[in-house]
Amino acid sequence: MKCTRCRATAAVALPSHNAGFCPDCFQVFFSRQVQKAIKEKDLFQPEDKILIALSGGKDSLSLARELKLLGYDTAGLYIDLAIPDSSVKAGEHVGRFCRELGINLHVLDLQKEGLPIPEVQKKLRRPVCSVCGQIKRYYFNRFALDNGYSVLATGHNLDDEVARLFSNVMRWDTAYLGDQGPALPAQEGFVRKVKPLYRLSEFETANYSFLAGIDYCYAPCPYSRGASFTFYKSLLDELEHQQPGRKINFYEGFLNRARRAFARQEDLEGLKPEPCPVCGYPTTGEVCGVCRLREIMGAKG
Ligand code: SF4
Ligand SMILES: [Zn+2]
Ligand SMILES: [Zn+2]
Repeated sequence: MKCTRCRATAAVALPSHNAGFCPDCFQVFFSRQVQKAIKEKDLFQPEDKILIALSGGKDSLSLARELKLLGYDTAGLYIDLAIPDSSVKAGEHVGRFCRELGINLHVLDLQKEGLPIPEVQKKLRRPVCSVCGQIKRYYFNRFALDNGYSVLATGHNLDDEVARLFSNVMRWDTAYLGDQGPALPAQEGFVRKVKPLYRLSEFETANYSFLAGIDYCYAPCPYSRGASFTFYKSLLDELEHQQPGRKINFYEGFLNRARRAFARQEDLEGLKPEPCPVCGYPTTGEVCGVCRLREIMGAKG
């Protein structure tokens, strides 16, 4: 197969785009998809200060590299979950990566916040992932707001987004459907959140990180019970295999034609968040989930 752009030998075949690319042209393709997402969905402007949530995995590091090459004003935040082995390794990968690319890196240590994930897991005695996710969302948002960032960018890719959409549809979870998309606008207490890789599949991001020589972290988290939405992802992969382009069409179709209806529904049903009396960040409960957790853990400060 020949490269669609330059006619050299193609290294990556992309049936969903009816195209194939050599290594250099593939990186151009990747970059154009990111730029298209930013422009069409109005994700951010050149003057925005962008905080990138860095986990050490291929998606977040690919995103950081691409936004840096495109000249955006970016910095990274790595949240150290204090999980033996995996947190140290992930932190080392993030540190090396940011040094090499000249990206300003912040590190937030959950041990210092009184919320090391292994302790949280012991205390709660139930699967820790949903609480871990809640803690990360809280600190990414809070750090961005406290430090003057106007946008928080995450490395969610097309497969993540389509699997989440499919799962929300299967449960007809109207509140989540109203909220899903590559850009969540800023609200009182919430920074603007964007997903610039939403047009790129897991396969495409993996190829990009490989071709760009990104040294990402493979160390699995010991609490992970496989990738999220694994079953839905495999169903959707089969669909994509039979009908190339299905995933992006399904997702773009939702954004362009269906999402609005759910957003209205959510407005009618939604509770208005109020500032948490302890930390000041929005909550619909008496205190926010993270402050409640800090209370349970006996954390100070
Ligand atoms: S697998 Fe679960 S516990 Fe581990 S980092 Fe991810 S969300 Fe947190
Ligand atoms: Zn080429
Ligand atoms: Zn709080």
